[in-house]
Amino acid sequence: MRIAMIGTGYVGLVSGACFADFGHQVTCVDKDADKIKALQRGEIPIFEPGLDELVAANVRARRLDFTTDLSSPVAEADAVFIAVGTPSRRGDGHADLTYVYAAAKEIARALTGFTVVVTKSTVPVGTGDEVERLIRETNPSADVEVASNPEFLREGAAIRDFKWPDRIVVGISDERGRKVLGDIYRPLSLNQAPVMYTARRTAELIKYAANAFLATKITFINEIADLAEKVGADVQEVARGIGLDNRIGSKFLHAGPGFGGSCFPKDTRALVKIAQDHDAQLRIVEAVLGVNDNRKRAMARKVASAAGGSLRGKTVAVLGLTFKPDTDDMREAPSIPLVTGLLDMGARVRAHDPVGMEQAKRELPDIEYCEDPYACAKGADVMVLVTEWVQYRAMDLERLKAAMAQPVVVDLRNVYRAEDMAAHGFIYESVGRPPQARG
Ligand code: NAD
Repeated sequence: MRIAMIGTGYVGLVSGACFADFGHQVTCVDKDADKIKALQRGEIPIFEPGLDELVAANVRARRLDFTTDLSSPVAEADAVFIAVGTPSRRGDGHADLTYVYAAAKEIARALTGFTVVVTKSTVPVGTGDEVERLIRETNPSADVEVASNPEFLREGAAIRDFKWPDRIVVGISDERGRKVLGDIYRPLSLNQAPVMYTARRTAELIKYAANAFLATKITFINEIADLAEKVGADVQEVARGIGLDNRIGSKFLHAGPGFGGSCFPKDTRALVKIAQDHDAQLRIVEAVLGVNDNRKRAMARKVASAAGGSLRGKTVAVLGLTFKPDTDDMREAPSIPLVTGLLDMGARVRAHDPVGMEQAKRELPDIEYCEDPYACAKGADVMVLVTEWVQYRAMDLERLKAAMAQPVVVDLRNVYRAEDMAAHGFIYESVGRPPQARG
């Protein structure tokens, strides 16, 4: 199959490289000329484990290439995937569909022969109808079917998720289009990946419902963590105790600083807006958004309280800035409101992240960036662990304590054991676990 992937970001590049790896002929297209030039030179513009080898192997095999001009890849394609961004629209939280609609019109002008245009971007229910209308209006003679194929990959595990997905959802009604998508995903049948065919609008809603449910699970355990702190219970054991129930499941039950990232915040906001537009209120998802927003700022107050109440003039070392480990993505990372809150309280902030510091500098220009976690901790009055990178999971506690001005650690990911921290003489706060005797 010949595939054109429009949008070569976290989703487009991973999907394009994986499709090429299945044996399809893929061209990844992006408007960003610098990104395409870098890819043509063999440089990967994002951090995603394993992606550099996968891209290089498929470029070498001549199954994958990159361009800024969609016309010939679209003209030759059996399927054109739209994988452009759908960020929150400034001001109202609706999904901004400008990029999707612009791509649809450009694709329409280049179509020749029967082609399936597939929306992989996360888009509100009914977007497929509008994409189809725009294509037919722009190019009335196009022989085209428009499908929805939402993507469920997670950054940091994107290749694995793409190649061994829990399910593939395809929203399409037409038989010819269904056959093309069936052929594209056939290599995954070896991995026993179930393909679910459904109506286009249903596929669009599945993606938002999945993300809203996961965001709800995280927010639920975060609120239980707050209660656990008040009543002297341990949220991790509560999570284990409920997660062992198959009806609940253990995933997404890790208490922390609140969800962030490129998808959950914008997708939950967009889902609430979709529901409002259709006179259906999603009160649970609305509550999730409110609780999560309050939580991020509350984390700064938690740090202040661990440091004795005031942060004015104090130095805070922040470990981990990206919204989760194994990505360089800073979009809506919980570290941003946390650090901003610390600065507002008069703290001096120094930070370290294994791969995200260049991206972080754009969001957080007024802090000091350090080359390793111990340099970051040097002279700090309190250290906050925000993102659970593997590099921070087994730190030398003696060395850490010796570097700090005050041995105070706030562990927002519950990476360390309170007993170990106390044994090393730290004042240690975590999330939803009983306070320890001070060391
Ligand atoms: P991204 O911002 O990393 O990439 C989007 C790319 O599209 C950019 O490189 C941009 O330059 C390019 N682009 C925009 N308009 C274009 C056009 N007309 N022609 C060619 N290129 C164009 O975004 P992303 O994180 O890859 O997300 C893409 C979509 O996938 C979003 O809808 C997102 O919600 C969804 N999604 C993302 C993830 C994730 O983990 N990032 C997971 C599942 C679904």
